[in-house]
Amino acid sequence: MTDLASVTSALDAVLPGVRADLEELVRIPSVSSSAFDQSELQRSAAKVADILRSSGVTDIDIVTLETEDHGTGRPAILAHKKGPAGAPTVLLYAHHDVQPPGERDTWDTEPFEPVEKDGRLYGRGTADDKAGILVHAGALRTLEQLGDLPVNVTLFVEGEEEIGSPTFVDFLTAHRDRLEADVIIVADSSNWKVGTPSLTTSLRGVVGLEVTVDVLDHALHSGMYGGPVLDAVTVASRLIATLHDDSGAVAVAGLHGYDETDADYPEDQLRADMGVLEGVQLAGRGSLASRLWTQPALSVIGLDATSVERSSNTLIPSCRFQLSLRTAPGQAPQDAYDALTAHISKNVPFGARVSFGNGELGPAFQAVDSDVMGTARQALADAWQTDPVDIGVGGSIPFIADLAEVFPQAKILVTGVEDPDTRAHSGNESLHLDDFRKAILAEALLLSRLGE
Ligand SMILES: [Zn+2]
Repeated sequence: MTDLASVTSALDAVLPGVRADLEELVRIPSVSSSAFDQSELQRSAAKVADILRSSGVTDIDIVTLETEDHGTGRPAILAHKKGPAGAPTVLLYAHHDVQPPGERDTWDTEPFEPVEKDGRLYGRGTADDKAGILVHAGALRTLEQLGDLPVNVTLFVEGEEEIGSPTFVDFLTAHRDRLEADVIIVADSSNWKVGTPSLTTSLRGVVGLEVTVDVLDHALHSGMYGGPVLDAVTVASRLIATLHDDSGAVAVAGLHGYDETDADYPEDQLRADMGVLEGVQLAGRGSLASRLWTQPALSVIGLDATSVERSSNTLIPSCRFQLSLRTAPGQAPQDAYDALTAHISKNVPFGARVSFGNGELGPAFQAVDSDVMGTARQALADAWQTDPVDIGVGGSIPFIADLAEVFPQAKILVTGVEDPDTRAHSGNESLHLDDFRKAILAEALLLSRLGE
């Protein structure tokens, strides 16, 4: 039953309902950040349950996890649809929470009122990740039209992805039996570009490190004492300067990376996408895609010293800064943390005192190639009528690494509906509607073929 023509016509029959459900879901401002009305998450969870119910799913729970250290989690939807006995189980993941809308003037239209313009649907969550939920629901509805669901399906729609999934691991542990699957499809990433689908096969990890440099036990008049002792900001700057070599590549021994990627990111396009100022040279070595996805990157993301406004002729005794290290797939976060702290301890100039505050460790992810991945690539190629491109993501999605750790035998497929113009997390977020349709088609084909 997996011929393209019949699946396509089944999809066309259900698509208007899928689109209407997406719009209703976007109208619920389900922002998980605690500064926003959390009752909206209950409403969006209930709406997701409705959407699944009308997709032929009957076994649906809304689960809110209580944890000792994190308090109460946000409501998640956990649901099952049974396939034939002995068939493989596929876990479909998406999240129903969204980012805050941000400033109103960054939007041309109301953030929580979906508006179609030039083939795209605008609104917070139209893509990230309410479209992901409707890709899953749309695929199930399509297969229901055909009377063909050859796999067992579990749906897990999380409500706290945008705040870093604080109760995710506890949730996995508490509901391990219900979440166990042979294949996991995470519909929360991007495609290479409009009209070209992708599997996301690698994610960088993250290490956060707070560093304090102290040189004096109190501030001093810079006229009377300046000279024999450098101020803490100058010392910290010299230390920070050791983190990269002259090309701008990370120069910390023990941090690994590699320069093999499927995609070619043209420099002009990258400069335009990033808004790099004219004349500013790019940093690092190797292909641009590898610099974004498979090599480490290290940035200073905060620095505390006396502000310019309050500055006086004083030697600053202490300087604190925050480093954000993106680690390459394949490197354990603790190893990267150890390499970074060893580098800093070894390179701190003038014997200044250096101390480390709380660190953050988020693992990277590297997909393992498999038959399942081949089936997924074929489904994407059939739906888009063009070959998919393997991409990496430079940011981390910690829950994917968590899934890989808790379910090491499961094949994880990271798909999505976003494209470079989606602007997830920003004003004017939008979904490309034709790619959305193709994503549903691909997932319907994939589910159908995974059962063969
Ligand atoms: Zn997302």
